Amino acid sequence: MCPVSAVEYEKQIAMIELLSKVFKPDDLEAMERLAGIKSRSTGLSYDFYISQILEVLRTRHNAVVGDIPDHELRRVISIVDIVGVESHGLMKRLASACLGCGWCCAQTKSIHVFPDDVDRISRKLKLKKEDLFDLRAGQWFMKQANPCRWWNQRTGRCSIYSIRPRTCRDWPLAENLEHKHTLVAAADCHYSVGVMVFKVLGTLALARGDSSSPAP
Ligand code: SF4
Ligand code: SF4
Repeated sequence: MCPVSAVEYEKQIAMIELLSKVFKPDDLEAMERLAGIKSRSTGLSYDFYISQILEVLRTRHNAVVGDIPDHELRRVISIVDIVGVESHGLMKRLASACLGCGWCCAQTKSIHVFPDDVDRISRKLKLKKEDLFDLRAGQWFMKQANPCRWWNQRTGRCSIYSIRPRTCRDWPLAENLEHKHTLVAAADCHYSVGVMVFKVLGTLALARGDSSSPAP
């Protein structure tokens, strides 16, 4: 086991005290457990997502997070991520964090689609749903992703924008098993990373009693 220096130990205690001003101790413990499970089950891609958020915090907001060691800041990020339910209002407010890079249309390996979208899109395009979508284990997916068949590489735009699936309209939010919206942990999506940065700064501001509004 690696010995923890007195200074390091004090910083860890300070972080627990800081977070305890925002979350109840029992909730905090449960969230840390869930964050550990999420990290173990999603592996490297989740670590990369947390690293991207850390990088933005260090490069753009070091005046706010400079006194927090990396491992403690990672801990705060993963706890804020676990709290996770998002409002469409917040997403709209932070929409400028979307770079319009098209990664979500071109690089996402598998795009889940809801049954009403399958019916609606195939009806509007006058095509059989089996030609456009695959049914796998009771769930519908785009037949062609990575890149999506409707992504226009030249313009970088969606060619069925007005009738695109709900998954695309909600991105980078996705519905969890309780039908609540949470952020997709996509390290390559500047929008998702930006919203998390905003939330971490908001949590730290709340814990420190700072009422100024953070910018992502
Ligand atoms: S939502 Fe994310 S991945 Fe998609 S265009 Fe915006 S920044 Fe790029
Ligand atoms: S349907 Fe449109 S918005 Fe959805 S992934 Fe394809 S190109 Fe992107």
